[in-house]
Amino acid sequence: MRVLHLTGPVLVDDHTVMDQAWVVGDKITYGRPRHSGEATVIEGTVVPGLVDMHCHVGLDSGGATDVDLALKQATVDRDAGTLLIRDAGSPLDTSFIHDRPDMPRLIRSARFIARPKRYLRHYAREIEPRDLPDVAEDEARKGDGWVKLIADWIERDAGDLTPLWTTQQLADAFARVHAVGARATAHTFSHEAIGPLLDAGIDCIEHGTGMDEDHMRVAADRGIPVVPTLLQVDNFEGFAALGEGKYPAYAERMRRMHQRRYEHVRDLYESGVQLLVGTDAGGTLGHGLLPQEAAEMAKAIPASAVIASATWKAREFLGVPTLSEGESADLVVYPEDPRVAIDVLKTPTAVVLRGDVVAR
Ligand SMILES: [Zn+2]
Repeated sequence: MRVLHLTGPVLVDDHTVMDQAWVVGDKITYGRPRHSGEATVIEGTVVPGLVDMHCHVGLDSGGATDVDLALKQATVDRDAGTLLIRDAGSPLDTSFIHDRPDMPRLIRSARFIARPKRYLRHYAREIEPRDLPDVAEDEARKGDGWVKLIADWIERDAGDLTPLWTTQQLADAFARVHAVGARATAHTFSHEAIGPLLDAGIDCIEHGTGMDEDHMRVAADRGIPVVPTLLQVDNFEGFAALGEGKYPAYAERMRRMHQRRYEHVRDLYESGVQLLVGTDAGGTLGHGLLPQEAAEMAKAIPASAVIASATWKAREFLGVPTLSEGESADLVVYPEDPRVAIDVLKTPTAVVLRGDVVAR
C-alpha cells in the first residue's frame, strides 16, 4: 500500500498541532505505520484541504458551461489547494462531480434563485416572489443541503439596490428549507436586505457589504457566518463606473462600500462574526483564486484567523471532517506555516486529495 510520510507540523484545528503524520491508502494517521516498503517523504506545514465557501462550478459569463469546462474549473481549484467547495449556485447540474474521486468534494446549492430582470441573465432560476417558498424547497431537495438566493439587486426604477423578497416570503422559504434538513444562504450587497434575511432565519450571508453594527451583533450571536468575497468586492469600483450615468445613487453606494472593504471585514471580525473564505469564482472571476482571496482577507484580519476560516472552521461549519486520525487525507503541504506567511498559499509543495498526490 502506498504510504506518505508528512514530516509536519500538521495543523488540525485551533488547539491541535501534530508533529508529523502518515497517509496510508486514503487515510491520515498519526501512528507510524507498520510497513516494510519505502514511504514517500513530503516536508512542510500541513493544513486540511482549503475550503472555498463561495464558488460556482459549471458557470461562466454566458451561463451554464458544458461538463468538460466544469471539470476544468474544479481541477484548477483543486490544484490551488481547494479540496472542498460549497457551490454557491450553478445553472449546470454538477452532481456528476460526486462520482469523480480526482475532483474536490462538492456541496451544491443547486440552482440559485432570483427574479426576472433582477439578476444576471442565464444564471438563476427566475421566479415570481409568491413562488419563493415552493421553489426554495424544490432546490433544497435537489442540492446537497444548501439553497442560495439572490436577496438584492439593482432595481432600474429605483436606480439603486433593493431587496427582491419580503421578510414574510423569506421566512416562509427558510422554514421550508429547514424542514427538509437544508440551510439557506443569500447574495447581498445592500444594507436594506440584511435585516429581513436575519429576521427570516438565514443561515449564512454572502458578500454582506451592507451589514451595520446591529446586524453584526445578531450574526455573531446566532453563529451566522459571512463570506466577504473581497476579490468580488474589489469589482465594486468598476460596477460604480458602469452605473454612474444612469444610477448615481447606486454608484455612490458601491464606491463607499469599496472604499470601506477592509475596514468592514475588520469590523465583522471584531464583532465576533465567523468569517469564511470564498472566491466567487465562476461568473466573472477565475477559478483557483482562494490563495489570493485569503491574502486579501489577511489585509484586514490576522493571517492565523484567515487560515482557520479557510480550513477547519469552514469544515466544521459544513460538517466535513478536518485532519483527525483516520479521516480522509485531504490536505495541502506548504514550505512554511501559512499562518505566518499567508502568501505561501500560492505555492503549495503538494496537494493531497483522498490520499493521492494530485498536484506538486
Ligand atoms: Zn457568487
